[in-house]
Amino acid sequence: MKYVDEFRDRALAEKLSAAIHAEADPARDYNFMEFCGGHTHAIFRYGVQDLVPANVHFIHGPGCPVCILPIRRLDDAIELAEMPGAILCSYGDMLRVPGSKRRSLMSAKADGADVRMVYSTLDALAIARANPDRQVVFLGIGFETTTPPSALAIRQAADEGLENFSVFCNHVLTPAAIRHILDAPEIDPEQAVRLDGFLGPSHVSTVIGSKPYEFLAEKYAKPVVIAGFEPLDVMQSVLMLIRQVNDGRVAVENQYTRVVTREGNAKAQELVDDVFELRPTFEWRGLGWMADSALAIRDKYARFDAEKRFPISEKTAREVKSCECPAILRGVKKPKDCKLFGKVCTPENPMGSCMVSSEGACAAYWTYRRAETLAEMALEAAE
Ligand code: SF4
Repeated sequence: MKYVDEFRDRALAEKLSAAIHAEADPARDYNFMEFCGGHTHAIFRYGVQDLVPANVHFIHGPGCPVCILPIRRLDDAIELAEMPGAILCSYGDMLRVPGSKRRSLMSAKADGADVRMVYSTLDALAIARANPDRQVVFLGIGFETTTPPSALAIRQAADEGLENFSVFCNHVLTPAAIRHILDAPEIDPEQAVRLDGFLGPSHVSTVIGSKPYEFLAEKYAKPVVIAGFEPLDVMQSVLMLIRQVNDGRVAVENQYTRVVTREGNAKAQELVDDVFELRPTFEWRGLGWMADSALAIRDKYARFDAEKRFPISEKTAREVKSCECPAILRGVKKPKDCKLFGKVCTPENPMGSCMVSSEGACAAYWTYRRAETLAEMALEAAE
């Protein structure tokens, strides 16, 4: 516990807060996107927003693995779960996300589908071993952090000759999404969001290292600081970003040196490279179709690829009307801008993925800032 406590130390937080206040130029705004939903929750949980000046703005990015899965792919997962004799294994957060017609994996389970919550890909493999006459499909979602365990499960299944295990692969890539956000103003000026820098993801960076963000500094002239998840990590990273902006410097800096290196985890990268290849294009909720932004299972492991193994029907899926998740994921809106927040949409009755996921922005506002957000919404409605 001592290790964690040190990064939540109140006296150190006060010192960092004072340094940020002293160094932030009151004559300008600082707009920093935290790509990762884990940072969003750390900022709200520990009140980091209250420890920085009002002209330091946190823009919430698309780094929530559950939130960015488009409804169409969720509908596909429900279809796989409903195949006769199938068992669909999923991480818990996905189960309550509403798909088309507000059906979720949980409601499919209530209707008779065998949907099981697992904590790891190893759990899914164990279920496959225990049920040799059933087809077990693991719903693979997430960024570079959750991809190596999926790759490992596929390799393990191949080694064991497991014939009834497959992965429905929805693994996505962080740098492509950041590039898309920065290119957005050129594609559609209405999607433009002013950004002065990025708090780089921490877990993702333990796998890919800090090197893949260097294009942000080189091509887009945006500072990046890879930040840990504890409150002092976030505050120190904000200070590092402010210093870069004030000095007119643009670099990729690493605050999270206790875990992240420039090169990342070579073993995990080799494993992923052996099992997966780039998809030419993939749809993200909120960001649309993006080239080279996701992974597919290589042909040599095709028998473990649920998309190749089972017929999945073509679907058209619509976002829930009035749900602002897509705009929130692009950083152009905040949960308070959604008319459904706290009225129709709550964690018990979620309308969109951002309210369900433990890393979702709406869930963060609901858990830590509900009263202020609802008061702000009421005030804006009255104006
Ligand atoms: S409050 Fe609910 S409906 Fe609105 S954006 Fe968030 S998840 Fe979507």
